[in-house]
Amino acid sequence: MTDSPRRRDSAAVWLGILLRQFPELGRELAPGRTSAPSPLGRGANRPGPSLPIRLFISDTIRDISDGVVELDEAVCEKLRLPRPQRGTVERRLTRLLGLLDDIAADPALADHVRSEARRMARRCSLALGDAETPVRVRGRCVHCDSVSLRVFPHRETVLCVNPGCRCADPDCRCRTDGRHRHSWVRAEWRQLAEATEGDLAELTAAQDEEGTTR
Ligand SMILES: [Zn+2]
Ligand SMILES: [Zn+2]
Repeated sequence: MTDSPRRRDSAAVWLGILLRQFPELGRELAPGRTSAPSPLGRGANRPGPSLPIRLFISDTIRDISDGVVELDEAVCEKLRLPRPQRGTVERRLTRLLGLLDDIAADPALADHVRSEARRMARRCSLALGDAETPVRVRGRCVHCDSVSLRVFPHRETVLCVNPGCRCADPDCRCRTDGRHRHSWVRAEWRQLAEATEGDLAELTAAQDEEGTTR
């Protein structure tokens, strides 16, 4: 695989995560929110965030909003496109995703987009912390064959949310503890990605790449 499609892929992964998780930040700030029971069986009726956390979240929203506007404008300038119209963060992210092929033609710009997207996706996940929304991925669980895999990028865990899923290991907690769902830690992702293909392979590549460029 040459460098540029891979960069394009990892920029797409980080922008996609940001697009899916950014709206969660706003929901975290909504007054009196209570979370729905999670597939992990915890966090039910968790109270809204405390004041310092709310400030951290609102800081993060501002940082990401500004960052996305700057990135969108920088890309349009480099690609000699008309200055982008005002739009929500989600609209701008969607537009950036649509421009990735053009962005990939300029390696310096592609690098900038990828590192900014990664930085903002991490910041978003960090602010969400325990409330991090799992990201749905394509591909089937290797144990139950359901389309039931979810990734928690910040916690670096993949989970099969099918309550009936059991792996072959009699000692695994998915068999011994009814509240536990089979999960894969980061070290097992590569193997899982090869078995499932699709998004997880891209996410693994994006995170591996991050490990090598740090
Ligand atoms: Zn499963
Ligand atoms: Zn298991």
